[in-house]
Amino acid sequence: MTEKLYDKNAYLSEFEAKVINCIKVDSSYEIILDKTCFFPEQGGQDCDTGYIDNHRVLYVSERGDDIIHITDSPVSGTVHCAINWQERFDKMQQHTGEHIVCGIVHSLYGYENVGFHLGSNDATFDFDGPLSDDQLHDVELLANKAVVSNLNVSAYYPAKSELESLQYRSKKEIDGPVRIVEIDKTDRCACCAPHVAKTGEIGIIKFTDHQSYKGGIRIHLACGMRALDDYCKKQYNLQAIAKELSCTPYNADVFFKKFAEDAAKLKQTIGHLKRELIILRAKCIPKTDSNLIIFEDDADSNTLRLTVNALEGKYGGICAVFSGNDSDGYKFAAASAKTDMNSIADIIRTDLSARCGGDRHMIQGSINTDRKTIQARFEKFI
Ligand SMILES: [Zn+2]
Repeated sequence: MTEKLYDKNAYLSEFEAKVINCIKVDSSYEIILDKTCFFPEQGGQDCDTGYIDNHRVLYVSERGDDIIHITDSPVSGTVHCAINWQERFDKMQQHTGEHIVCGIVHSLYGYENVGFHLGSNDATFDFDGPLSDDQLHDVELLANKAVVSNLNVSAYYPAKSELESLQYRSKKEIDGPVRIVEIDKTDRCACCAPHVAKTGEIGIIKFTDHQSYKGGIRIHLACGMRALDDYCKKQYNLQAIAKELSCTPYNADVFFKKFAEDAAKLKQTIGHLKRELIILRAKCIPKTDSNLIIFEDDADSNTLRLTVNALEGKYGGICAVFSGNDSDGYKFAAASAKTDMNSIADIIRTDLSARCGGDRHMIQGSINTDRKTIQARFEKFI
C-alpha cells in the first residue's frame, strides 16, 4: 500500500521514499514506492509527471492500494523524488476553479457535473442541463467573486455518522472512506485530487468556450496563468485585426461587420462582372459544326448554364463548358439541340464517374478527373 502524501499536503513537491517494487514490463519499469506525492491519473485528471532520482516518471496510475510509477529505467533503495510543481500547481488551480463553478451551477440551477477532463493544456467539464450566455456570464462573475474573497479550501475524511448528515456533491457511489473537499460557503464535493488551500491562489476563472453536449453543456475552463495566456493570445490576435481595420480592439466587431458586408457586396459585383465577361467571350467564339468544349476559370454553376445558353446556334454537336482544376475536379454544363443529353449523362457517369442530371436538352454536374481525359472523351461524342 502506497502512502498518498498528496492527500494530506497538496503543496509537497519533493520527498524521499523507499522502493518497494520495481518490475520490468515491456520496455518500461513499474515502480511502487512506500509513499508518493505523484497524483495518479484519476477522475478525469491527467497524472503528475516528474522524476524519481534522475529517472523521468512517464505515467502514474492507481492499482488497488498501490500507486504505480512508470519510468524507462530501473530504480532501487531509497530514492529522491520530485514532481513537476509548475504543472501540478496549474492543475490545482484549474481543479479548484472547477469545484467553485460546479458548486455555483448546482446551487443556482440544480445541475450535476457529469463529466470532467483536466489535462496539461485543456480543462473541460459537463453539466446535465443547458446554460444560456447570460447564465454563463452570471456564473463566471460569481465564481470570480469567490476567488477574490480568498475563501478557505479544506480536505477531510468525515466519520461515517458525520458523512451521513453531510450535503455534498459526488459523481458516483464511493466505497470506503470519502474525502470531502470543502470551499467555504461555496461548495462541498467528494474528491481525491489536490486543490489549492485558498481560492485567491486560483487568480482568475475564465470560460474560454462552450458547446451543447448530450442535452447539457460542455464548458472549457482556464484558470490562473492559463487564463492569462489565453487572454494574451486573444489580445494579440484582436490587436492585429484592429490594426488592419484601423480601429481599436473595443470596436473591432463593428468594423469587421462593415468590412464583411462590403466584401460580400464586392464579391457579388465581381461575380456578376465575371459572368458577363465569360458570356461575352462565348458570344465571340466562331461557329463550328462539331462539338464545342470550353474550360473557364472560376465560374459557378449558374454562369456555366448561362454560357451554354449564350452559345446556342454556335455548334453542330454538343456544347460543354467546364470550370475547376485537376485536383478538385470540374463542374460543368452541357447542351445539344440534336443529341439526347440524358444518354450523354449515362455515358459520362460510366466513363468518367460523373455526377450529373438534367433533361434531354441540357445536363449539369461534376466530374472528378483531369482536363485532358474530359476533353478527350467529349471530343469523341458525335
Ligand atoms: Zn476536486
